[in-house]
Amino acid sequence: MTITTETVTAPPVKVEGKLYTNRYLVDAGHPHIKVKPHKKPSAALLSLLHTCPAGCYSQNDKGHVEIASDGCLECGTCRIVCAPTGEIEWSYPRGGFGVLFKFG
Ligand code: SF4
Repeated sequence: MTITTETVTAPPVKVEGKLYTNRYLVDAGHPHIKVKPHKKPSAALLSLLHTCPAGCYSQNDKGHVEIASDGCLECGTCRIVCAPTGEIEWSYPRGGFGVLFKFG
């Protein structure tokens, strides 16, 4: 009798694929997160370029950090990271707007 062991591996899960299942109702003209005007971003603000799971933050050609909050997951990471510096204004979207998580 021969016993074989076979490893069954699940297909790799990509974050981008999971994010794609979310839906957003954008509150046009009322962004719920704003980056305050700044001359030079702090290290905390710059870190959001890499830590925001939705990739909402970018840096323009002047070195200023900008946000496009349309795909925001409302995780609060940027709120916590920049709480000591006060460089962003953060609030939840108005009722009925924002992210709609789709599970499964
Ligand atoms: Fe990104 Fe989370 Fe901040 Fe939304 S709340 S902008 S997803 S870090």
